[in-house]
Amino acid sequence: MSTTTLILGGGWGGLTAAHHLRGLVSSDHRIVVVERGAKFSLGVSNLNLMVGKRDSVEQIQRDMEKLKRPGIEWVHSEIHSVDPRERTVETSSGRLTGDYMVLALGAELAPDSIPGFEEAAHNLYDAEGAVAIQDQLKGFEGGKIVVLVAGAPFRCPAAPYEAAFLVEAWTREHGIRDQVEVDLYTPESIPMAVAGPAVGEALSAFMDDRAIGHHFGHQVTQIDPASRTLWFGESEVPFDLLIGVPPHRPPGMLANAGLTDASGYVPVHPQTLEILSDPDTLEVQYPGVYAIGDVTAVRLLNSMLLPKAGVFAELEAQVVAAAIAADINDEPRPGVYDGNGFCYVEVGDGSAAYGAGDFYAYPGPRVTLQEPSEQAQRAKDEYEDLLDLWFDA
Ligand SMILES: Cc1cc2nc3c(=O)[nH]c(=O)nc-3n(C[C@H](O)[C@H](O)[C@H](O)COP(=O)(O)OP(=O)(O)OC[C@H]3O[C@@H](n4cnc5c(N)ncnc54)[C@H](O)[C@@H]3O)c2cc1C
Repeated sequence: MSTTTLILGGGWGGLTAAHHLRGLVSSDHRIVVVERGAKFSLGVSNLNLMVGKRDSVEQIQRDMEKLKRPGIEWVHSEIHSVDPRERTVETSSGRLTGDYMVLALGAELAPDSIPGFEEAAHNLYDAEGAVAIQDQLKGFEGGKIVVLVAGAPFRCPAAPYEAAFLVEAWTREHGIRDQVEVDLYTPESIPMAVAGPAVGEALSAFMDDRAIGHHFGHQVTQIDPASRTLWFGESEVPFDLLIGVPPHRPPGMLANAGLTDASGYVPVHPQTLEILSDPDTLEVQYPGVYAIGDVTAVRLLNSMLLPKAGVFAELEAQVVAAAIAADINDEPRPGVYDGNGFCYVEVGDGSAAYGAGDFYAYPGPRVTLQEPSEQAQRAKDEYEDLLDLWFDA
């Protein structure tokens, strides 16, 4: 009997799930990706855009129309509501029903939630914003550059630190380091807190080495674009160029479907990615319905959440695709997600520091960060190979 798998969201996680599943089930089983955007790009490419390693938005984007693998259908629609019990979605082009459903809707950006952010900050998490940063840097002659994390949790815990390292390196390469201050403000208590104190200390030391000011426990409350001032409650900080990571929020329709926990995101079983009815007992609900990537809340043994990053979305997508395929092919369920993850933290000058570890370890994640190397940077650059794997030019 033919089945239909609905994949909600065609980002990093959704497209990985679609491709992996396509390789595991015969062509009479439909795989349908519902995605509102007509273009795909990887967030990681924004860092390349920001410092001119990529020239334009067009260079990092691909048309969803050019998804190259036969047997992956793209429905270009906005999803309005989800019914996990019936495995049905209401979209701008009508109702869709599946035998399996994978929620891969990511996290939304909420720049409007901080007064002044949209007017004053160049949004690093938006490709056009990254181009604007590139333009600003080209004309920058001196002053104070601030990298601001405007709310937590946010995608890719390393990205704001990478932005600070890359900007600092850029000012050295362009001979204006003496005229520039680089500072990072964030509500976090330490960098990449989920990875533990050793990683946080290592990143703080990298910032000290490069004379990048770092200011933790700073939640911005408003920004005055006219006077170029950041407000953190009562205290104020001036800036000349503001590189911003906007607050994130979960897709609104999921709360209406009763799919979220107190974090606003979707609680899932840490190993199977099935949606939980009770995060304490790990009791699952809605057979055949899974959630992966940034839209999920995976609670770790230290009570923090698994970071929102593409590598986790990708690893989870592979586990979910294998579970759906096993069900379709009437085979035993294969492996589960084991909590291992990794990242490459770009530190400028063509180097990155490789961090990896077990996020499901007790009593909390066991993650180590290696010394920066050019080899790790080359490995990070290979993320963009996904564009050629998934899309025709
Ligand atoms: C600057 C930057 C650097 C990064 N660097 C890294 C890195 O080095 N390593 C790493 O692992 N991660 C990195 N990330 C994070 C990574 O991009 C995300 O964690 C990853 O994309 C999450 O995948 P996802 O599939 O869960 O969500 P997404 O990739 O965000 O996909 C969600 C999709 O759902 C669609 N969608 C949402 N709502 C609807 C709706 N109502 N109807 C239809 N479609 C909808 C969206 O349009 C989107 O395409 C970086 C991110 C940024 C911004």
